[in-house]
Amino acid sequence: MGVGVGGTRRGVLRTGTGLDLTDITAPRPVLHLDIKLSYACNNHCIHCVVADQRARALARGRDFRTTAEVLAELEDARRRGFGLVTFTGGEPTLRRDLPVLVRRAVALGLAVGLQTNGRVLCYAPAREALCGLGVRFVVALHGADAEVHDAVTRAPGSFEQTLSAMTALASRGEKVTGKVVISRRNKASLPAIADVLLRVGVRRLNLTFPHGLGNAARDYRGVVPRLSEVLPPLREAVVRMERAGGEAVTEAIPLCVLGDLAHIASENHYREHVRSEVRQLDQGPRDWSRDRVVEGKAKAEVCRDCPDDDRCEGVWREYLETYGDEELGPDGGRHR
Ligand code: SF4
Repeated sequence: MGVGVGGTRRGVLRTGTGLDLTDITAPRPVLHLDIKLSYACNNHCIHCVVADQRARALARGRDFRTTAEVLAELEDARRRGFGLVTFTGGEPTLRRDLPVLVRRAVALGLAVGLQTNGRVLCYAPAREALCGLGVRFVVALHGADAEVHDAVTRAPGSFEQTLSAMTALASRGEKVTGKVVISRRNKASLPAIADVLLRVGVRRLNLTFPHGLGNAARDYRGVVPRLSEVLPPLREAVVRMERAGGEAVTEAIPLCVLGDLAHIASENHYREHVRSEVRQLDQGPRDWSRDRVVEGKAKAEVCRDCPDDDRCEGVWREYLETYGDEELGPDGGRHR
């Protein structure tokens, strides 16, 4: 590939990250539907990528799918051979019909993931309606304490609710991933976040580098740290999680930056095992496996000589445009 900054990978990508599909393995790639139920949310995260999408969706008419629309899309996905659906948003647990949607997906034979901030799931009735169905709960935890987490979510009290939900889900034997979107505000907390997860019985950690859209784009340098700043605490978080028998994966961090942690990049897994289609509310269906790489990410000139060029996705385009490429390189550009 070897496409440089300002090279051929152009276009506007309006979608978020947030997948956690690294427990999906199959001889052939699994088809995955990522469906945004609505853009409403009870958090207001500093890194939120959908802040602008909501306005565009409302300009098109509304910022949610009806129950009937979602059910029809699930049927359609099953007919087209999809094996997996992730419900996301916005915050999908704000919808009263979520248990109906999840149960229908399960009945159709789809594996189900739920991308959530977990706050509503601190209430037993809402949580119980989703338990016992084999759902993978990917719960956003952005700090190891209320001070940091609530500063990221800009929602006082959110840490207590999210952690309460994670604790209850884990103690009930549900599949739970703790997902951190890394920011300047929480980068030093990554090891402590791993500790908190382990303490409540969650042994899976997703460390995602932020995409500079929505709220993150409004204050890019204030929200998004340099990759080289993130690596030391990220490494310590991975060590703590793995030492306790858990698992950590990264999203959107290039292989050369990860260095000897390159094997935990979730993109290694997606490339072989998952093909994703994203259904936003402000645009038509997107081939996310393609668009993530071709439109969302970019590479530097130095990537042309990199032995990992073919298997590395590079970095989010706006990162290179803001911070440049000096941290990248096949021999550990991070050390330059
Ligand atoms: S590993 Fe680094 S140098 Fe190699 S292709 Fe990826 S971003 Fe470029």
